[in-house]
Amino acid sequence: PPPNSTSDDCQGTAATPHIVLFPSAGMGHLVPFTRLAVALSAGHCCDVSLVTALPTVSSAESCHIAALFAAFPAVRRLDLRLAPLDASAEFPGADPFYVRYEALRRSTPLLLGPLLAGASASALVADIALASVAISVARELRVPCYVFFTASATMLSFKAYFPTYLDANGGAGHSVGDVDVPGVCRVPRSSIPQALHDPDDIFTRQFVANGRALVAADGLLVNAFEAMEPEAVAALLGGSVVASLPPVFAVGPLMPLNLREAAEEQGNYRAWLDAQPPRSVVYVSFGSRKALARDQIRELAAWLEACGHRFLWVVKGAVVDRDDACELSDLLGEGFQRRVEGRGLVTKSWVEQDEVLRHPAVGLFVSHCGWNSVTEAAANGVPVLAWPRFADQRVNARVVARAGFGVWVERWSWEGEEAVVGAEEIAEQVVAAMGDQAVAEKAASVRDEAARAVADGGTSQQSLAEFVRRCRGGT
Ligand code: UDP
Ligand code: UDP
Repeated sequence: PPPNSTSDDCQGTAATPHIVLFPSAGMGHLVPFTRLAVALSAGHCCDVSLVTALPTVSSAESCHIAALFAAFPAVRRLDLRLAPLDASAEFPGADPFYVRYEALRRSTPLLLGPLLAGASASALVADIALASVAISVARELRVPCYVFFTASATMLSFKAYFPTYLDANGGAGHSVGDVDVPGVCRVPRSSIPQALHDPDDIFTRQFVANGRALVAADGLLVNAFEAMEPEAVAALLGGSVVASLPPVFAVGPLMPLNLREAAEEQGNYRAWLDAQPPRSVVYVSFGSRKALARDQIRELAAWLEACGHRFLWVVKGAVVDRDDACELSDLLGEGFQRRVEGRGLVTKSWVEQDEVLRHPAVGLFVSHCGWNSVTEAAANGVPVLAWPRFADQRVNARVVARAGFGVWVERWSWEGEEAVVGAEEIAEQVVAAMGDQAVAEKAASVRDEAARAVADGGTSQQSLAEFVRRCRGGT
């Protein structure tokens, strides 16, 4: 990881750009933004501010923000106090993270201008979820605005193309079928984020508005690298996805920060992992912002109990961690933990996932394929058994399968489909994936490619340097 403070080579000069980063909500967005902040500050000598919208939706976000500013004092903090959006009437039952995107989008025209002006920003980097509103504000102030897409290059190309697809297929009110993204791939109807089938969904409205706005940005950053998504990166850079897309900077995989956070008291998993043989443990996690259905959790538990493998399983019982009050025994059934003791560890707490994936004991990652999880598996050379659940995750699972460092069982259900995947079927796939030599070799080679991309002279390192050069005022 990069040094924790600005290095001696980074003495501020008149040419030091001040880059303001504006993430949306959820760890899936905050984590890559903080990685970008440190890469720019410690790695590229920029003056960096991070906008922190308060209060945060989840406790995981407040812990992460506190740990970041403690460990990297060179990164400046710009607090943004949000007025509460009473969304219960407007968006009944909507995902709290999407409701937060909406609150941020509505506050941005009023709050972002003064923040940018006060900070004398040389450039703004806005989260994809805020793109359309942030670009307008920055434009009025004549501050260049870049958009950071925190997911895959494949998904970015889909998002950039989707408005064109809608316009050519009867407009927003019409049903969505397979989408052929020019030069990239066909995204089958079944892999399209569930919400996009409903034109009135809160997510769909934001998704389309932000997709249309991309052409107005000064540039797009994406946490991706050529070797993993060759077609998508080439198409985005070559301009074949949509006309007049601004320059695209593929800067991934952004490196983890090793914050350790308050993790010391959060679990015994480190000592437990240290005691396991190499490549023996199956790590199971479905990310930070969704809970599996209760009957699916029970089926997973049945498999883990019967399978004989060593495992580390992070279980979530609610979408937002603050609301997750249920006990493990309620989710897994009485006695489960006792019966698997020694062989398996189950936790409801936050684990430092990158540290888990870096551990030599871990041999397979059963993952929902949130994009950060995919990049972390790739950077650590851990094979993936992809089990996407919603949003962009099936698109990401396809990237994993195509790059060859994992397997995706396409028939497995995701949110909105009734079927529960049974214990025996899971067992069969895990055994196959654990024993798949070709996948293991591919995982090792993807890890090496990732390291090359971010090393001095690598494609991602050069893209980030080029982005910084533009922020300094170069053209
Ligand atoms: N994460 C973690 N510990 C956990 C759960 C998640 O460190 O217990 C991290 C994970 O490493 C990743 C991020 O949180 O960096 C989650 O982002 P991702 O895109 O994988 O999925 P999401 O949670 O947004 O669905
Ligand atoms: N996304 C997007 N535009 C938006 C909101 C989200 O392109 O206005 C993308 C996001 O980057 C990801 C996917 O849609 O590719 C799912 O979004 P979400 O924020 O739910 O991602 P997660 O929290 O699962 O990482």
